[in-house]
Amino acid sequence: MTFDVAIIGGGIVGLATAYKLQAYNPDLQVVVIEKEKEIGLHQTGRNSGVLHAGVYYRSGSSKAVFCRRGKQEIEAFCEAEGIVFNVCGKTIVALTDDEVPRLETLHERAMSNGVTVERIGPEKLNELEPHAVGVAALHVRETGVVNFGEVAKRLAVRIQERGVEIVKDVKVVGGRLQGTSTILETTKNHVEARVLVNCGGLWADRIAKLFGVTPSVKLVSFRGEYVELTEAARKYCRGLIYPVPNPAFPFLGVHLTRVVDGRVEAGPSAVLAFAREGYEFKTFKSGELAEVIRYRGFRSLARKHWRTGLAEMRRSIFKRSFLSDLQRLVPAIQAADLLASPSGVRAQAVYPDGSLADDFVIESTRHAVHVINAPSPAATASFAIGEHVARLALERLTS
Ligand SMILES: Cc1cc2nc3c(=O)[nH]c(=O)nc-3n(C[C@H](O)[C@H](O)[C@H](O)COP(=O)(O)OP(=O)(O)OC[C@H]3O[C@@H](n4cnc5c(N)ncnc54)[C@H](O)[C@@H]3O)c2cc1C
Repeated sequence: MTFDVAIIGGGIVGLATAYKLQAYNPDLQVVVIEKEKEIGLHQTGRNSGVLHAGVYYRSGSSKAVFCRRGKQEIEAFCEAEGIVFNVCGKTIVALTDDEVPRLETLHERAMSNGVTVERIGPEKLNELEPHAVGVAALHVRETGVVNFGEVAKRLAVRIQERGVEIVKDVKVVGGRLQGTSTILETTKNHVEARVLVNCGGLWADRIAKLFGVTPSVKLVSFRGEYVELTEAARKYCRGLIYPVPNPAFPFLGVHLTRVVDGRVEAGPSAVLAFAREGYEFKTFKSGELAEVIRYRGFRSLARKHWRTGLAEMRRSIFKRSFLSDLQRLVPAIQAADLLASPSGVRAQAVYPDGSLADDFVIESTRHAVHVINAPSPAATASFAIGEHVARLALERLTS
């Protein structure tokens, strides 16, 4: 079968790319190939569900620009489609005086990204989130929550109605260039495409390699564990309560989130996963782990941050440690208030020198666009990332 564009990956980024391609040119023959039986089962369906306003990201970075633009678009899509989202606002709480300078840096960053943020003291914090404690906080009114899995499912319906083909339960296992076309070898038929788009999430660097591209980064999987508050304990969080993040890491710290259906979730931690799709502590794939450990960038990262790594591990094994992090934000929460909840796995790009990519990484060749690193806030930003990737794909189709 021959297509203009073949997209690998039926997560929210691949689907938004197909949506944008179809909107630019309804006559394009586009296929989305997804290895699972359903779309959105990985990062898209296992996250915090936060519509980020754009507070954290370096001014002018793709994260900052795409997050702002993408948030508007995804909200407009949800409004038009009747998908529930809730702009509940969030508080980022400095727990001690030591954290106040970092809170101020975030405040400046937010303002330079065009986000409206109010600096508040303990009294106002108490009005907004009566159970949270802190010496100072930022109140970000624009932050909201949505179910990104639901958005992805609706995108899939809309693009299929307009002629995009979605093939599920088919894995791309190899590929080669044939003249100006790319041949995708799959677990079923071969697919031929004029342009390849790789939105393979946790596998994107491996997929790039299948097509002869060695990315500048390698993906390392970090499991994010969550707990849910019991119904009686939901009163402890009205909207979203976040700590001030450690600026050395792109993760935002364990936070409380009132999700769209009213439940309150807490997490995620950031533990090294022993498999690319290592959703549970016991999931272990020796080949995949060995690949990570052999990587110079990972070893350098581990040397620099082994203390943080061990602390995350401890939090994963000893639930008391997870609880005490939550209690720093909301002291009233007790062990009996916590229920088990499914975890997610983030793909985090690591450079060979051990530094963590703090922006999206998209690498292109003459006939392909590889979305190598699309971590948070990529779900919020998905429509804007999709637009950018669709333009790159169209340039390759027409040149
Ligand atoms: C714990 C956690 C919390 C997060 N919180 C937030 C948040 O609050 N807000 C936010 O904006 N973002 C958040 N994110 C980030 C967001 O979820 C991701 O950035 C986004 O979902 C990435 O989408 P994707 O389509 O690139 O990847 P994915 O959803 O992982 O999709 C990739 C798809 O590719 C498929 N695939 C892989 N290999 C192949 C192959 N060989 N052949 C065919 N198909 C293949 C996979 O099966 C998968 O469905 C969070 C992520 C995690 C993990």
